[in-house]
Amino acid sequence: MQNESDDVIARRAFMKKAVALVGATSALATQSGAANAQAANAPATSGRKGTVYTGDVIQGKKVISALDVDDLERGKTHKLYFQGVQMPTGQDWYVSVIVVHGAKPGKRVALISGVHGDEMSPVHTIHSVISQLDPAQMSGTVLAVLDVSRPALEAMERRWPNTALGTGLIDINREWPGNENGASAPSRHAGLLFNRLLRPNTDYAIDFHTGTTGMDLTSFNLVRMELPEPRAMAELFPIKQIFDNPAYPTLLANAFINVGIPAITPEIGSARVFDFDMIPSFVEGTLNVLKRYNIVSGPMGRTGRDVGTFVGNSGHSVMSTHGGFVELLVKLNEKVKAGQKVAIQRNTFGEVVAEYTTEVAGEVTGRRTDATAEPRIPLVMILYQSAARENPEDYSE
Ligand SMILES: [Zn+2]
Repeated sequence: MQNESDDVIARRAFMKKAVALVGATSALATQSGAANAQAANAPATSGRKGTVYTGDVIQGKKVISALDVDDLERGKTHKLYFQGVQMPTGQDWYVSVIVVHGAKPGKRVALISGVHGDEMSPVHTIHSVISQLDPAQMSGTVLAVLDVSRPALEAMERRWPNTALGTGLIDINREWPGNENGASAPSRHAGLLFNRLLRPNTDYAIDFHTGTTGMDLTSFNLVRMELPEPRAMAELFPIKQIFDNPAYPTLLANAFINVGIPAITPEIGSARVFDFDMIPSFVEGTLNVLKRYNIVSGPMGRTGRDVGTFVGNSGHSVMSTHGGFVELLVKLNEKVKAGQKVAIQRNTFGEVVAEYTTEVAGEVTGRRTDATAEPRIPLVMILYQSAARENPEDYSE
């Protein structure tokens, strides 16, 4: 199946040199035959490396192991599979890539979904945006990567099922920018995507998420508001809240920011479903971003200013202290006062075992969806403003 193009052969030769440089671990991988695209620490960051076609075609889509959008024909939409890390059986995890490549050159915006495998509204949001784009009329490029954590998506699971010592679950959003020679398959997958697909083709990035299974969220953007460009992007979304916080250093958005690419993390409601109440606002916001960078023309849609987005830089998780059945007393986006009761927990006899109050005043941003909770589960998350940015306990972006 695999045609060894000159490109691939040249790349292999280059990688052998790179492997020799990065030392014993990689050399061992080479000897065991696991090398080629996987083992070389040769990020496509210094100058143009070009698009590498593996020669495979899957369901009519050409497979690539590196992308340079400048190699693609302008004024068209291109659909490709990017070859990620290998599976335990030796086949590859492929990631779906859509490049809407404008007739004229311009800025390049990456739209990303599937970093977490149970987050569906981002997929529909990106599909909706792309359906409204006409590459013949565009100046610049939209790079969409739909299913970053493929095995997690196949399982409708937040985290990547990794088979190192029995199956364990790894959150790939704790791995960015990844490492092509990393200690786990998801770390290597992240490294391949970041070095060969995302970073070389992105001027601005939007990594869409939702709440995780078990926690419903309102519509908000997670963004570092002290950075002018991410702030400007986030404020273009007509949504309920902005959470002004870096959260974890390994988020994909932070990996982009660390290499000088402005990025934000929108959060679109609940996991596992398409939230058609929220998706249109995120589509509108994304199109606003594309207008800001003159990739598409036309008047701006509604922005955060039009809907009165609530901004907080801190999150407070109300955590369960007991096991039992939980009755939540507050709704998403409800304003709460410090000391306000937000949940009651009962045992199987109906006796109250715990009553929960919020320590802070703010707005409800997240709610547990399961009616039961064992001890130390986030029940309600409150967004608020404080002098010291406080991170919520057990925040699952
Ligand atoms: Zn997520």
